[in-house]
Parts: sequence; C-alpha cells; structure tokens
Amino acid sequence: YKGQYILAVEGNPPLNEGGMFCIDGGKPFVEKLKLMAEDAMAIIAWGACASWGCVQAAKPNPTQATPIDKVITNKPIIKVPGCPPIAEVMTGVVTFITTFGKLPELDRQGRPKMFYSQRIHDKCYRRPHFDAGQFVEEWDDEAARKGYCLYKMGCKGPTTYNACSTVRWNGGVSFPIQSGHGCIGCSEDGFWDKGSFYDRLTTIKQFGIERNADQI
Ligand code: SF4
Repeated sequence: YKGQYILAVEGNPPLNEGGMFCIDGGKPFVEKLKLMAEDAMAIIAWGACASWGCVQAAKPNPTQATPIDKVITNKPIIKVPGCPPIAEVMTGVVTFITTFGKLPELDRQGRPKMFYSQRIHDKCYRRPHFDAGQFVEEWDDEAARKGYCLYKMGCKGPTTYNACSTVRWNGGVSFPIQSGHGCIGCSEDGFWDKGSFYDRLTTIKQFGIERNADQI
C-alpha cells in the first residue's frame, strides 16, 4: 500500500550525463528510483553497490555511480552490504520487518546490528592461530595446509563487519576463509579503492600469546 511498502534496491544509479549510463525501461534508473521511493515506508539497499557504490564507483568514477542514501535522503534506509550479501542475511532482514512490523535496529552506518555488529575476525575459526602467532606466509606452504591464520596474506577480517564467519555461505557450507583465501572486506565502504586484497593491514610484529618473556 501507498506509504507502507518496502522498496528493495539492487545496484546504484549513475548520475553523470543525466543518468544516461543506466537506462531501464527507456528511462534513467535514477528517475525510476525516485519515483518508486516516493511512497515507500523504507528502502533496503541490497549489496555493496546500493550501500556504498562498489566497483562502478571506483576512482575516478566516470559515471558518477552514487549509493542510494546519497540520492534518496528523506526515507529510512537499511544497508545490507556485501559483494554479494549473504542470502540468509537478506531474507533475515525481510523476515524481521514482516514479522515484527518494524525496521531492525541499525548501526551508525545504517546496517542491521543483528548481522553487522561483529567483525569476521571475532568469530573466525582460525582466530586461535592468529592469537598464537601462527600465520600462512605463502600460498600452499605448510601453514596453509594446516589451516593457520591468513592475516599475513592480506585477510581483512579484523576490519570487516559481517556475519560470514557465523552464518557462512551456501546454507552454512563454507565461507572464503574456510576455503583458504583471506576476507577481502567486501561489505566495507570503499574496499574497492583501498589497495591490494593481499596487503596486510599492518606489519606490526605479532609474537603470539603462547610465547613467554624468554622467547621474545
Ligand atoms: S583468517 Fe582473517 S579473520 Fe580469521 S583470524 Fe586470521 S585475520 Fe582474523
């Protein structure tokens, strides 16, 4: 009903050249978005594109791809970032709204707290190896085969808020770290412009909690 529906949006509108870089049904996407948003109760921004801009907004952003909350500024916007977002998280957000008749509690960036309040690193099953200072140093080295921490291979789990390490993917089968590759931080704003996926966040020497004063 008018004023009571939720508009769920994938992608984002390019604003350059009057929006001509994305035409949908003969009209610029941005025009359609504004029309559909007019009577919506709230908007769900699905994925990193709608939430933050994502790769099409990468510098120098020639099409001026713009996230939904920068275009629609007078409606509540629920951001469900990820490239792509987790299916169970998407359905969880919709189910919450239809079951309780209200919007989920959001963090200061507009993400539902129930799924985005913890870092991948907080619940990662490789975390004991991080704490012990046991790291993969090269792809396919002995440490990689043992399932050690991927921090030195560029894992962005310590700075990425999402539910991958708890909900996982494909019905809970696995997630990138479980498959042997570090988290690339795809649910964080600007991840596409922050340098190589394989650069670690810091080179501070990590000695591990199992070392004692004689060993350091
Ligand atoms: S693999 Fe990544 S998320 Fe997991 S413990 Fe290591 S740095 Fe943290």
